[in-house]
Amino acid sequence: MTDRIGEARSEAVFEDFKGQYTRDQATVEANRCLFCSDAPCVKVCPTHIEIPQFIRKIATDNVKGSARTIFEANILGMSCARVCPVEVLCVGACVYNAMGVPPVQIGKLQRYSTDVAYDAKWRFFEAGPDSGKRVALVGAGPASLACAHELRRHGHAVTIFEKRSAIGGLNATGVAPYKMKADRAAEEAAWVLGIGGVEVKTGVAVGTDVSFEQLEQQHDAVFFGAGLGSDTKLGVPGEDLPGVSGAVEWIEQMKLSRVPTDGVRHCLVVGGGNTAVDVVREACGLGIPRVTMLYRGTQAKMSGYAHEWKAALPEGGRADWQAVVTRFEGDGRVERVHCARLDAKKQPIAGSDFVVEADLVLVAIGQSKLGALLSGLEGIALESGCVVTDEHGCTGRKGWFAGGDCRNGGKEVVNAAAEGKAAALAIHAYLSGGSHA
Ligand SMILES: Cc1cc2nc3c(=O)[nH]c(=O)nc-3n(C[C@H](O)[C@H](O)[C@H](O)COP(=O)(O)OP(=O)(O)OC[C@H]3O[C@@H](n4cnc5c(N)ncnc54)[C@H](O)[C@@H]3O)c2cc1C
Ligand code: SF4
Repeated sequence: MTDRIGEARSEAVFEDFKGQYTRDQATVEANRCLFCSDAPCVKVCPTHIEIPQFIRKIATDNVKGSARTIFEANILGMSCARVCPVEVLCVGACVYNAMGVPPVQIGKLQRYSTDVAYDAKWRFFEAGPDSGKRVALVGAGPASLACAHELRRHGHAVTIFEKRSAIGGLNATGVAPYKMKADRAAEEAAWVLGIGGVEVKTGVAVGTDVSFEQLEQQHDAVFFGAGLGSDTKLGVPGEDLPGVSGAVEWIEQMKLSRVPTDGVRHCLVVGGGNTAVDVVREACGLGIPRVTMLYRGTQAKMSGYAHEWKAALPEGGRADWQAVVTRFEGDGRVERVHCARLDAKKQPIAGSDFVVEADLVLVAIGQSKLGALLSGLEGIALESGCVVTDEHGCTGRKGWFAGGDCRNGGKEVVNAAAEGKAAALAIHAYLSGGSHA
């Protein structure tokens, strides 16, 4: 799987921003944990990893046991240790915060255990006895990988259909390289699917190359884990000029192959969410001398994490708040971006127009929803483009389940992992004649 990810990738220049604990550092940090009962850090984790338990095992030098505790709850525990926004999840909930003491570095401890497990090539789970049932999974992102693994533990045969040539979903194609690079995501996918009995069909777009009806006829259940679609466009004149790109599309190219940055003098990033902040940091890291984020709201109202924006500033990121793009202009390539200022109600201020010179523009204002792919299937309901399910991932159509970004509208890897696993348990109950769907 790694052979489908280019060797000379732009992302290779990025250093790992958190680094790895040594055994001594991990032991010292683990011994800071108060092993709280009813621990708040566990409650906020969507996969409910038994955090005090895995930390206690590190403290007693039982790293294998620690890794097992993590993977039992979340088979994507390795990538989550690197990419989870722990500041607003487990670490943010640690009781030490209320005492004015630095919280336990749960993410770094999780990374220590899972990295040791990967290096040692430990495996923890086996496939269950063959159930004779077949399940089709659409997409090979975190939601489907977690679902596939859990289904195999229950003995169901699994086929994953993935439209791209690389598997891992946004873990491979979207996550910032200073958190995790594409080859590490591919390694995780291979490790998860190493449980055996999973057929992966890459380069197959369901709905185009194979129909949803065919999937249904040939399988006992279907899991839809297709994530989100292409970058949303601004819809202003000149957006098709070379040099103007969707941010997620550009990030994918940067992670899997190369993006041209030689000679780029000013990169303008449009948006104020987490993708916008990521791409600011990535453009700075690739050596583009001037990188500006143009956002229609204020800094206080931006949806990107404040801690990530804080990290972008010393790297060279700058922002222009309360402004929008009105059109792009250039001779064969973007050169000038026409903008207007907004008031507190996000209305354009008359006479506030200004022009920014930029030779690369990355538009990070969201991604399309893919629920519409299923709109022809009776019983499947959509809300704002997302597939509607109950809390187990059951749709209104018999034998159809969904999870991850296509269901929740775009959250984190850990949410996709939790929803994929929950759906697998619901699928198992359904295939066993139980209550779900
Ligand atoms: C730029 C960016 C950075 C992010 N950074 C972080 C981060 O640091 N930390 C974090 O926790 N989360 C991050 N996220 C969010 C996280 O990546 C997603 O929440 C998570 O990957 C969702 O998993 P998923 O399996 O639902 O979807 P995806 O990861 O999108 O996987 C869906 C897969 O389905 C495939 N597919 C789509 N349509 C079809 C079809 N018709 N047929 C076959 N296959 C299909 C796609 O090619 C894709 O591989 C980031 C997201 C973006 C966009
Ligand atoms: S809240 Fe903090 S101290 Fe308590 S169990 Fe969790 S990590 Fe340990």
